[in-house]
Amino acid sequence: MQINNIDKKILTDEEKISRIMQLKAERNAIILAHYYQDPNIQDIADFIGDSLALSQFAQKVEQDVILFCGVNFMAETAKILNPTKKVIVPDLMAGCSLADSAPADEYQEWIESHPNSVVVSYINTSAEVKALSDIICTSSNAAKIVNSIPLDKQVLFGPDKFLGSFVKQASGRDMILWDGACIVHQKFSEEKVKELIAENPDAEVLAHPECPPNILKYADIIGSTTKIISRAVESDKQKFIILTEPGVIHEMKKKAPEKIYLEVPDLEGCSCNMCPYMRLNTLDKIISALENLYPEIDVPEEIRIKALKPIQRMLELS
Ligand code: SF4
Repeated sequence: MQINNIDKKILTDEEKISRIMQLKAERNAIILAHYYQDPNIQDIADFIGDSLALSQFAQKVEQDVILFCGVNFMAETAKILNPTKKVIVPDLMAGCSLADSAPADEYQEWIESHPNSVVVSYINTSAEVKALSDIICTSSNAAKIVNSIPLDKQVLFGPDKFLGSFVKQASGRDMILWDGACIVHQKFSEEKVKELIAENPDAEVLAHPECPPNILKYADIIGSTTKIISRAVESDKQKFIILTEPGVIHEMKKKAPEKIYLEVPDLEGCSCNMCPYMRLNTLDKIISALENLYPEIDVPEEIRIKALKPIQRMLELS
């Protein structure tokens, strides 16, 4: 009854946050958020991280409920690692173009057409694809994971072809790549990158390896979300051109507020380049998820057991 009364009111952001805190305590829930979430969601999270840090944290959660503010493959990974917890998300439509570019049946055919290979899959994949893989990686550890594979083994790397070609260069391994990409990182405007560099010659260019080679060639530093944030904080430079989802700028501003962070427009001319899936999550949907403990993420036990092994192999090597 109380829930319905609150639903009917239009709440201010402050009231929404206070409602979330109340529900979080009632549900014995913890809120995990990715750096690509809106700043107001990052600010209410108990833990913020990139895919690797979120996985490492999720497996140790002791609360009954994990509210995962990110995209579905991240929430699935939390469920795989910590199956006794109820994992809920604000919006079930928060998918990922990269994960969607690797349907499990096609991925299986690809693997079967290269027998005796070692399959390294990026964490941005469905639970079914993880279950088909030998080892999972994130952008923080991809080169290290690939380098751990014996040299006489053929490596299949998927689904991100751009991360794959970056890792090929970094590791010197001649891997076979799946033809997938992230709709956010593949559409930065090269013209705008060049313009921004010309206008800001004192800026350092920080890029995520999901960007294509025609963008990465302008980067001073290429790295995972966590590496990009820590570089911006620790660098002597005062200005940065950010070639990843601009949600990371919130953490940069918290840690180094005196510095300047420049977003890069996409090919369609939008002044920012946000992930449309990540940005589906809102404070209202978080309230609803905590009130109803829905939508819930579940992974069939047979798939979960198979997907757990390659994730654990990654965590052991990280
Ligand atoms: S930024 Fe790209 S890889 Fe990350 S969740 Fe969005 S679509 Fe997927």
